[in-house]
Amino acid sequence: MTRPYAPGRPGGLHDDDEASAGGSPVERSAIDDRYKWRLDRIFPDWTAWEACYAEVEAALPGLAALQGTLAGSGAALLRAVEAMHAARRKLEQALVYAGMKSDEDTRIGENTARRGRVSSLAVRFAEAVSWFDSEVLAVPADRFAALMAEEPGLALYAHHFDDIQRARAHTLPAEQEALLASAGLMARGASQVFNAFDNADLVFPSITGENGKPVVLTKGRYQKLLKSRDRRVRREAYEAFLDAYGAMKNTLAANMDANVKNHVFYAQARDHAGTLEAALHPDAVPPSVFHALIGTVSANTSVIHRYTALKKRVLGLDVLHEYDLAVPLFPDGEFKFAYDEACGVMLDAFAPLGADYVRTVREGIEGGWIDVHESAGKRSGGYSNGVYDTPPFILLNWSDQLGDSFTLAHELGHSMHSFLAAKHQPYVYGDYPIFTAEVASTFNELLLMDHLLKQSDQRARLLYLLDYHLSQINNTVFRQTMFAEFEHRIHQLGEQGETLTADGLGAVYQELLVKYWGPEVVFDEARSPLTWSRIPHFFYNFYVYQYATAYSAAVALSRRVLGGGTAEREQYLDILRSGCSRYPVETIALGGVDMATSRPLEDVVALFGELVDRVEALLDGADLPEDA
Ligand SMILES: [Zn+2]
Repeated sequence: MTRPYAPGRPGGLHDDDEASAGGSPVERSAIDDRYKWRLDRIFPDWTAWEACYAEVEAALPGLAALQGTLAGSGAALLRAVEAMHAARRKLEQALVYAGMKSDEDTRIGENTARRGRVSSLAVRFAEAVSWFDSEVLAVPADRFAALMAEEPGLALYAHHFDDIQRARAHTLPAEQEALLASAGLMARGASQVFNAFDNADLVFPSITGENGKPVVLTKGRYQKLLKSRDRRVRREAYEAFLDAYGAMKNTLAANMDANVKNHVFYAQARDHAGTLEAALHPDAVPPSVFHALIGTVSANTSVIHRYTALKKRVLGLDVLHEYDLAVPLFPDGEFKFAYDEACGVMLDAFAPLGADYVRTVREGIEGGWIDVHESAGKRSGGYSNGVYDTPPFILLNWSDQLGDSFTLAHELGHSMHSFLAAKHQPYVYGDYPIFTAEVASTFNELLLMDHLLKQSDQRARLLYLLDYHLSQINNTVFRQTMFAEFEHRIHQLGEQGETLTADGLGAVYQELLVKYWGPEVVFDEARSPLTWSRIPHFFYNFYVYQYATAYSAAVALSRRVLGGGTAEREQYLDILRSGCSRYPVETIALGGVDMATSRPLEDVVALFGELVDRVEALLDGADLPEDA
């Protein structure tokens, strides 16, 4: 259940930024042990890790030898599944231990080498069991039902097998599968080309920074410069940044065309109704969920237009440009928490989830789940990481910023999800997919926000929080929905056999910009339509919509829990406790929210409108005293 930093994830995890680095961090040995995670709760030392490694390695020939035995009897099928899972549980512990030891101090070569070694073991494990799913699919359906009936121990795995069997309708005869598998090497071409361009070859120019000195643009700095109070700085950054991509727009468009054609090819080869259906198939998400998202946001863009009008008013601008949209509206109300203080705030904020939940979080904080502070060589950012048999550890790089408190709330949401899933489910269902993962983490961010808003009686702080909340919703729900609609539109063009060009892509993008952000924003005709060319997520094949669905599910669920009683709370906790024992949309339905309807997005629109109302009310006739 490694959840690495998702590139470009709006909010939550913070990216490191070389421009902001101040001084060199302390050595790990200088940090108090109570701020370090206790990885000895997995293995006491590397000797124990080596023993685990050796045990997994020794199991591999036996796993490979099980090939061809599945259809023999129910008992043989059960034996194979249990043997695979037993080895994988051990492997996972070895993987996360080496990974997190290496993250503590990436300068220690021995640990990096052990991490590499166990990653290779994971590849060998995958090879040793790679036959399993196709052998299950090769057993005729009635024979498989007979095996299940024959061995009562298999009943536990019914959903697991159903998940494998769903591929039956989209699996080709063995020879064609072999051909598709060998073509897979070429399928990553467009994404590799974009990565090489975006991370290696692309050279950004310098602009003149706030202090009048030249500053070379990087992606991290670009996000910072767009928040500058100095409008010249953000305009220059915006223009220079997009011009760097624009200089290659025809190449990038041809590459995007190849990316989309790749998805079209595989969707058709596997007999899916379209690229969207093919992309949603692995998580069994009905396309109606995707269409409900786009449809409901599209019907409610007026609330986004109110927000852009509010920005224009607060910033006091005659004309609101695209490069004005990221500026914080009320920076004066910014506030911070030291780590220990933030932990206390979390426990208060999570109270609506009940005493047991809060007690477990407290025990986690005190019991070595969290590695708090930055130190020399430590991995940047933040994550929650653990597997079925380990505590759900958290890596942070604490710097007292309010964003760090939201990261802590977010990661504790993931960790409590892992904890509850492992506690209530057998190993086979102790994990969860991204579709539900980001619901649990975002839910806790929303609880923290609700708590802070209720605690704030200072006007400046309230305005700061309201703006923070509005921009979170805007970036996570509305912007990602716009990206999802763009992705859908260009895939439809691809399915119709059209060739995507820079002009064609730009026209679609520009139309959506105007639709989503409304009449208050003036777009740069030369540059705004180029933004599609710099978004790496468009190579992930219908991925970003999940940011919006997870956030809206979390909003709908948190409104139920905050406005409800024990029943609503327990229904929400059932989502966390159910791990992956059901398909994601069924899992969310346990909490009383149907993702195939417009309801969750309507809740987001209602919340967003309420937040805009509150800001306007504070601006119009402050019902709170000015800060002392
Ligand atoms: Zn997350």
